[in-house]
Amino acid sequence: MIDLHVHSTYSDGSETPEELVTRGRRAGLTAMALTDHDTMGGTEAFLEACRQQAMTGIAGVEISAAVEEGHGGLHLLGYGLTPGNAGVKDRLESVLTGRARRNGQIFEKLNGLGLKLEWAEVQAYAGSDMIGRPHFAQALIAREYVSSVREAFDRYLAKGRPAYEERYRLSPEACIRTIREAGGVAVIAHPFSWETDDVKLEAGLRELKALGLAGIEAVYSEYNPEQTVTLLRLAKKLELLKTGGSDYHGKAKPDIALGRGFGSLCVPDDYLQPLLRALGDDNPWVVVSERR
Ligand code: AMP
Ligand code: FE
Ligand code: FE
Ligand code: ZN
Repeated sequence: MIDLHVHSTYSDGSETPEELVTRGRRAGLTAMALTDHDTMGGTEAFLEACRQQAMTGIAGVEISAAVEEGHGGLHLLGYGLTPGNAGVKDRLESVLTGRARRNGQIFEKLNGLGLKLEWAEVQAYAGSDMIGRPHFAQALIAREYVSSVREAFDRYLAKGRPAYEERYRLSPEACIRTIREAGGVAVIAHPFSWETDDVKLEAGLRELKALGLAGIEAVYSEYNPEQTVTLLRLAKKLELLKTGGSDYHGKAKPDIALGRGFGSLCVPDDYLQPLLRALGDDNPWVVVSERR
């Protein structure tokens, strides 16, 4: 069992990269990838923990791309890319700057709605690098304005709700190019978030493949067997790699367990070798460990 979609305290997860690897060992995972939103700040700590704990580890990132009208969120996972690459640093920095601006606007809106918060309260939950809506949600819970992260999103923070604000996003093309130019492989995360219609999804995936997309996250916490079969069929038809992961966030998504998702998730070990081959034998941002 492997888990190639995991968030740490560097973004909106509640565990450090080291803690994630320890927990992954306990859960029986043989390989993991750290895919924080918009930051690779946890990469070195994560890979070091993988070396020490005999876990196969892949450096990664998750970037939300700008989408056309009519589509849901398009999230691109990058695997095995170089964190210090100039393009990666520049683009992620521009995204984090856009976040900071947007966060100020969310903060104003919440206060305007009578949900008084101090900035320090949001920061108390914030990631080392990235501050996002899940951190606002946790601050709202602490003040007892809402009782769960889900309620915070449903009432205030989700798109279309009164405290929502847009933020700067890279185009899909820029995301994929940035990942590839840094030696990495680009994979579409939770594809049905972007497009629920199979026929439109296939057409969209073909366009992304033309831009350099290499894989699709076919096994995912929120997908039922039928949806998984659809994604596996598309991966095969379009000659894309298959990947999978839980999207574990710790306390920000308390119902999702590392490796196991809502309980029945199991990303097969078989998906690992083709991905490792695509990342290259000498990729320094991959730690290959023999299982002990
Ligand atoms: P942001 O990147 O700051 O706009 O926040 C997006 C993050 O919030 C996502 O990556 C999820 O981790 C989380 N998120 C988005 N929608 C929800 C929701 N409805 N319930 C819980 N978490 C959510
Ligand atoms: Fe998240
Ligand atoms: Fe995502
Ligand atoms: Zn994620």
